[in-house]
Amino acid sequence: MTVSITSGRLHLLLALLLFCTCAHASETAAITVLNERVRITPDQLSLLEDAGGALTYAQAVAAWQNGQFAPPQADNLNLGVTPSAYWARLQIDNPSATPRRVILSHDYAPTDDVRLYSGTDPADTKVAGDTATLPDGAWRNRVAAFELDLPPQSSQVVYLRVATESNLNMELSLWPPAQYQQHEQLISLFYGLLFGGVAVTVLYLLFAAQLAREPNALLLAAYLTSYGLYLAFLNGFPSLWLPGALLAYINVLHIASLGLLFGFGALFYRRYLQLANEYVWADRVVALLQWLGFAVVLYGVLPYSVLGVILLLVTGIGPLFTIGFAFYLWYRRRPHAAVFALGWVIAHLGSMLGTLRVSGVLPNSDLILHLPAVGCAIAFACFTWSIGRRLSVERIYAYTDFLTGLANRRQLSSQGEMEYDRARRYGHPLSLVLLDVDHFKTVNDTWGHAFGDKVLRKLAEHCRNESRTSDLVIRLGGEEFAILLVETPITEARKIAERLRLAQMSDKLEGRKITVSLGISELLPDDRGIEDLLQRADAAMYRAKEAGRNRVELQITDDAAL
Ligand code: GH3
Ligand code: MG
Ligand code: MG
Repeated sequence: MTVSITSGRLHLLLALLLFCTCAHASETAAITVLNERVRITPDQLSLLEDAGGALTYAQAVAAWQNGQFAPPQADNLNLGVTPSAYWARLQIDNPSATPRRVILSHDYAPTDDVRLYSGTDPADTKVAGDTATLPDGAWRNRVAAFELDLPPQSSQVVYLRVATESNLNMELSLWPPAQYQQHEQLISLFYGLLFGGVAVTVLYLLFAAQLAREPNALLLAAYLTSYGLYLAFLNGFPSLWLPGALLAYINVLHIASLGLLFGFGALFYRRYLQLANEYVWADRVVALLQWLGFAVVLYGVLPYSVLGVILLLVTGIGPLFTIGFAFYLWYRRRPHAAVFALGWVIAHLGSMLGTLRVSGVLPNSDLILHLPAVGCAIAFACFTWSIGRRLSVERIYAYTDFLTGLANRRQLSSQGEMEYDRARRYGHPLSLVLLDVDHFKTVNDTWGHAFGDKVLRKLAEHCRNESRTSDLVIRLGGEEFAILLVETPITEARKIAERLRLAQMSDKLEGRKITVSLGISELLPDDRGIEDLLQRADAAMYRAKEAGRNRVELQITDDAAL
């Protein structure tokens, strides 16, 4: 139901706790260009908080000269969420005798606006970020990344200004261009697989929803789609696809996808676990979480204080309740609750990790950034498996008789008609044996219904034993059974029926003799379907009853009747 929060306004309170800049100058270590990625460490950075966001490059440089920059507090490059802009000053050394081109990347994709000042001329400014207005013809990257050309044996100072509504990071790397490209390709491959998996699963769920009339599959598809959207925003992909006019709304859309994720997550939870049927109070609690989640979509319209309360409920208290309750249902052995609870917990562990990262408690390592995505993929695999499993179990139930485990009447219509068509087309024989327990009402009345059930189960076993695996054994209902014998002429069917009758008669269950009457029919040229065979076998069976029961009778054909 939750992943992480990235919105600036939403985490203002947290942000206030996280960072304050102390006003003293300090020496920072230079960054040396290498032949591999260099992650810039806190001691290589000096920072300046620009509370109004109005400082110019010249003013920032003057502030450095006045000793107003400071190293990052507690060595943390994740500054949480803040309305301020931040300036970072770094020094890059190229000790080699050749000029070097490097990429300076700012490694947090949802960042709104990143500017690089590398010369004395403010016109040298390079702009990136997902909502930033870029100069004409400039290329927008998934993350902010700048090319720098370093003369041989040079030492260059650059300033970076970062402002964002999402959480503000100073995670920076210096790359040889080829390696940067390789890294981006790897990330694209990873997310390509992930989004591909999401897309295929959503399609599967939509088909399941449509073909099996399974509304839970539709809900899970909506939940998964919101997750895919949220993940795309978190990793900077929409800034590549969205038309320019929508770029300004990227943060609003990002948070909207989070609201959908919360809302559909809770809705799926309620419906999948069928809370409304048995746990009405729990259903109401999760329904409240659901509507609060959907309300997050209104980010930008709702007052900040209201949103703060909503987020506290949805991301703090909500998961505690839903996780606890999922485990309770697992404990109560609710069908499929185990896999569901597992998925739910994995999804929320990822979410917690994300929230801790956004609020600046955990660093922005690649692992912590991408682990929630992997966790969510596993969680959604669990949910999809649960739905698929439920569908397959329901399908089995729909075609199986509960008491005996035999096929039910419905299967005679589907598989029986197929056998009928096949026999018709190839001119092969097909016979049907119909069987009814004699005086079964008396059996029930005398020895009890439970004993009657036992008789039915035992009779089902006899039917299975006397037929082949290719035959179809069916409980038509009550104490009536049928066996569709493929490739079998009526003479052969008669032998099988006799064997079955004798097996039943001699099987003295608890010393009580219970007999059956059987009627047999065979496919005739004028038949139009399996129902015709069924009718003639039924008539034959009634003749067996009339003739004194415990016997086998064959169908009467028109020829024989004449
Ligand atoms: P006949 O020899 O003419 O077939 O007599 P009968 O008593 O077997 O026929 P009838 O159709 O009147 O009775 C069928 C009985 O089967 C009535 C019903 O209670 C019982 N019955 C139907 N389904 C079940 C079941 O699943 N379990 C048990 N124990 N009894 C069942
Ligand atoms: Mg009967
Ligand atoms: Mg009957």
